[in-house]
Amino acid sequence: MAQKGKHMKTSPIWWEFTEWEQRPTTTSTPPAKVDVAVIGAGYTGLNTALVLARAGVSVAVFEAGEFGEGASSRNGGMVGPSFHKLGVNGMKQQFGETVANGILAESISFIDHLETFLKTENIDADFKRTGRLLGARKPADLERYKRMLETLQGACDVKGHIVAKQDMQSEIGSHHYEGGLVFPTDGGLNPAKYLAGLAQKLVDAGGQIFTQTPVENITKNAKGHTLSTPRGEVLANEIAVCTNGYTGKQFGALRRRILPLRSAILATEELPTALMDELFPNRRMHGDSRRLVAYYRPSPDGKRLLFGGRAVGLTERPPANERLLRSMMLEVFPQLSTVKTTHVWSGLVAYTFSHAPHIGKMDGVHYAMGYVGSGVARASYFGQKLGQKILGNEAAGETSFDKLSFKTKPLYNGNPWFMPGLVRWQSMLDKFKL
Ligand SMILES: Cc1cc2nc3c(=O)[nH]c(=O)nc-3n(C[C@H](O)[C@H](O)[C@H](O)COP(=O)(O)OP(=O)(O)OC[C@H]3O[C@@H](n4cnc5c(N)ncnc54)[C@H](O)[C@@H]3O)c2cc1C
Repeated sequence: MAQKGKHMKTSPIWWEFTEWEQRPTTTSTPPAKVDVAVIGAGYTGLNTALVLARAGVSVAVFEAGEFGEGASSRNGGMVGPSFHKLGVNGMKQQFGETVANGILAESISFIDHLETFLKTENIDADFKRTGRLLGARKPADLERYKRMLETLQGACDVKGHIVAKQDMQSEIGSHHYEGGLVFPTDGGLNPAKYLAGLAQKLVDAGGQIFTQTPVENITKNAKGHTLSTPRGEVLANEIAVCTNGYTGKQFGALRRRILPLRSAILATEELPTALMDELFPNRRMHGDSRRLVAYYRPSPDGKRLLFGGRAVGLTERPPANERLLRSMMLEVFPQLSTVKTTHVWSGLVAYTFSHAPHIGKMDGVHYAMGYVGSGVARASYFGQKLGQKILGNEAAGETSFDKLSFKTKPLYNGNPWFMPGLVRWQSMLDKFKL
């Protein structure tokens, strides 16, 4: 029998894989003055702060909740180039050929950048380049994948190959797909191990992290910016807002440019090795062609299946999320009907109107955000770029994403009230494979 909601844990299984209890946190009183205040202790904020701390800048990171409150310890840990949702041609139309080519070239490098960083820093985050399979739910989707791969390979040096329907059993224990597209150099990691390791590097470099310390207000004055927190005021020369899907009303202009969406993941109980071998012969990361995002993977120890997708609504609703994810999982793997769910959790991702992340300075405040649901490698890269920008290292901080303008829409105030309806509509289209 499937396990009912009340028995499931609602915290990420990742927190059990890592030395999570020892993660660096402090709730003491912050200093009265710092060179740079970083808001948000996810991959973006910690990477930004690490670059600054190592350059000898005094830096404090403020985190509203517990350490790991945001998406960076809750995600699927799937890492790849995160090609732009508009596609190569859509990007060329919207941003022009030069910028589009620059973005593609940089996107390919995100995963190499993260792999090199983890190696150089000696952070053990169970990172492996297992590759990723995208499953085509109908023949037209496979044709679309073929065209997409061809266009991508025409524009940049991406490795990939198409898998025909009759060969899918060598990739996945499912009859759900009409074929697929493999990106063999994508990979996966344990997101919380990475976050905890990153925080330790920052502390070692002299940076400070203040947890349960929300920045409630910022005022600009002749001396810099004054941040109000429940633990006191802090004067900072520069501010970096790294709050992604959690960007609040105090950052009004940025909030109006971000569409926060909830994404959720379930973890199954431990499964027999023979079953895991059947489901994931190559232990790859997985996605598919449905409109409503679905992503799934084996856990790094190869014992459980983690299945993620868009959550039900914008607030935290574990039992409803479990029911939705479970029904999606059983569509792909009907053989798991009696398998128990042990965990279900969720977090917020940040969409943008351009479908791309943004980095820069607005109203005197530095920011990097809007990873459109693919932020493990991107946020790491953008965080380091932002650190370089704040240091004034123009060349090291430069990216093709600088050229994108961070737009909002008239009447949008940061509350995406229309998204749940859109999600229900897309879910219905997916159900009928339309
Ligand atoms: C369920 C889920 C699955 C995902 N799966 C993947 C995946 O498989 N692969 C992938 O590449 N990406 C994935 N993502 C996206 C990825 O996790 C994010 O893009 C990335 O973690 C963003 O990092 P960040 O540091 O910018 O933001 P976050 O990690 O969200 O950190 C922002 C922080 O800012 C804090 N904050 C907000 N306001 C304030 C304030 N006023 N004062 C102080 N602190 C504040 C928040 O508490 C939060 O901790 C997933 C996300 C979710 C939620």
